[in-house]
Amino acid sequence: MERPWEGECHRCGTASSIHIMSMLNTQLICMGCKDQETELPQYEKAVEADVKAYKERVAAQNKSTTDAMKAKAQWDQMRRGRWHDSLTDCYKETP
Ligand SMILES: [Zn+2]
Repeated sequence: MERPWEGECHRCGTASSIHIMSMLNTQLICMGCKDQETELPQYEKAVEADVKAYKERVAAQNKSTTDAMKAKAQWDQMRRGRWHDSLTDCYKETP
């Protein structure tokens, strides 16, 4: 399950009043971390993949509940796995 937002960045631990979900995984991060993330070489690919997955989810939702659930599961999979290997040390989840 995704961690809820509790006022602290999941990545750097800084207290923040605003947050956004990482494009590389399901962490909720502060804008400082978001800025750093956009500099990563894999960021653009991640955005592309996310937009594609989003469109597939919308299309699936219009078809059937089963398709919608399948598309959501694929998106979860992508966020949890696909980009993990290429993440730099500062982007590993803190234990
Ligand atoms: Zn942060």
